Amino acid sequence: MTSIPHHAPPLLENHVAGHWVAGNGPATELKDPVTGDTLARVSSAGLDLDATFAFARDTAGPALRALSYGARADCLFRIVTTLQAHRDDYYAIAQANSGTTTNDSAVDIDGAIYTLGFYAKQGAALGDAMTLLDGPAVPLAKDASFGVRHVFRPTPGVALFINAFNFPSWGLWEKAAPALLAGVPVIVKPATATAWLTQRMVADVVAAGILPAGALSVICGSADGLLDRIGAFDVVSFTGSAETAATLKRHPAFTERSARFNVEADSLNSALLMPDASPDTPAFEQFVREVVREMTVKSGQKCTAIRRAFVPAEYFDAAASAISAKLAQVVVGDPRNETVKMGALVSMAQKRSVIDGIAHLRAEAEVLFDGADAVFVDAGPDSACVAPTLLGLREGAAGQRVHDTEVFGPVATLIGYRDLPQALALAKRGQGSLVASLFGNDAGAMHGPALALAEAHGRVHAIDPSVAKTQTGHGNVMPMSLHGGPGRAGGGEELGGLRALRLYHQRAAVQGPAALLEALTQNGTQMPQ
Ligand code: NAP
Repeated sequence: MTSIPHHAPPLLENHVAGHWVAGNGPATELKDPVTGDTLARVSSAGLDLDATFAFARDTAGPALRALSYGARADCLFRIVTTLQAHRDDYYAIAQANSGTTTNDSAVDIDGAIYTLGFYAKQGAALGDAMTLLDGPAVPLAKDASFGVRHVFRPTPGVALFINAFNFPSWGLWEKAAPALLAGVPVIVKPATATAWLTQRMVADVVAAGILPAGALSVICGSADGLLDRIGAFDVVSFTGSAETAATLKRHPAFTERSARFNVEADSLNSALLMPDASPDTPAFEQFVREVVREMTVKSGQKCTAIRRAFVPAEYFDAAASAISAKLAQVVVGDPRNETVKMGALVSMAQKRSVIDGIAHLRAEAEVLFDGADAVFVDAGPDSACVAPTLLGLREGAAGQRVHDTEVFGPVATLIGYRDLPQALALAKRGQGSLVASLFGNDAGAMHGPALALAEAHGRVHAIDPSVAKTQTGHGNVMPMSLHGGPGRAGGGEELGGLRALRLYHQRAAVQGPAALLEALTQNGTQMPQ
């Protein structure tokens, strides 16, 4: 692993309109959350945003769309190769700037490379196609001389990503892979606190000369002025807090110009122990392991992390002690020390927010495992380290805050339920979440609950002992599965295989003579389901 050099913190440049440009205003510092050292600085002041968006939309977009889907998939393959060649540098940046252990950095870095590789393979299967078709031609006249065929065309705009701090790598590439495959140029504004990894990856891909000029831009620092440039055919994907999403939603880009707005916001995800999963059964053990894993991977800074763990009231004490016993073994501290299993939060601001969040929940929940007095390895109280905290609420229906407050750190609440209908109703009090998981010993018994949870969640993850070794994890977002959730979770949809292409395409009905409808199939292929 390469180490981070100790010299004056560099000012990270922005890549816009095919050029690298330094911001010319006051810079914001990016910190090491363990040591407090300044690592780099960013500024987006003074950029010519009109030229940036125009170049991406009018020059890079047509150049991308002159390629077939298969040729764009080949670009994704080459991006994978480029990123793989620099993996060690990315791990060093993540350790320094995100405070993550090697395992946690992998979720972000290797997760991104895997997702890009998946889309490269899916896109390659579209071959030389230049147009995606949506079903067969359908006659509109009795003699079939006149009919309609639905087609998908890439939107002639840009894809703007405003991303969250917790996935500077995956958050870029899980969105950029389908956008670029669709033929839509990307402008990414990473969250400032961890912008370095995003900026460095863009720099490596730009240097490799894989994409047409202007097809991949990065703007580090303030988002000021970005939405003002968004037009009718652009797509904005936002990942972050529900509060910021609500502010952005009111922008004229959406209220007047009707640009597409995909939101992945915060979420009160659940894990639900089925009534048959008593403490002496394998499903109970699987549940305990998963709750602990979700609380501690990336220090709980995952949008999909389990925030509420529902158990039958009679198993509450057994679950509390089993989860607490495992949490007691988690070594927290500086990820440079190899004994450390859980690194820091991303910033001191996040640490304050998590400590405040725990205090807020404690007004109605008891503390079952207290991280407040933990000692950290190679990190002092001034670091952004926070130890895991398990809260508890024996009567789930009595709570309010635990169902609507997301504490974005290593914090979860164990919640007792009376019967299955009550548990399902409580899960839905999250008002729409990204994911809910079920843990039981009988797959058949999870049929009804899985469908009930699917009404209010983007993903349902059902686990029984038969999949102990093969299941992909409650919080892991697989590119084959949909990611997003209704209501509170933002109402967005990402990934889900080639379903992800739809966000970047316009579906249109072309009505005309049969000969035209037949001609539309040249260089076309059906959009896979
Ligand atoms: P955030 O404060 O809402 O920031 C998200 C992004 O929005 C950042 O790039 C931020 O830039 C930018 N931003 C903030 N205010 C803005 C404004 N007025 N106009 C334009 N852009 C603005 O969220 P965060 O703290 O980075 O992320 C944590 C949250 O994200 C958690 O709640 C988590 O649940 C959610 N999340 C959801 C998903 C998902 O897929 N559903 C994934 C990851 C995280 P600056 O950094 O420069 O302020």
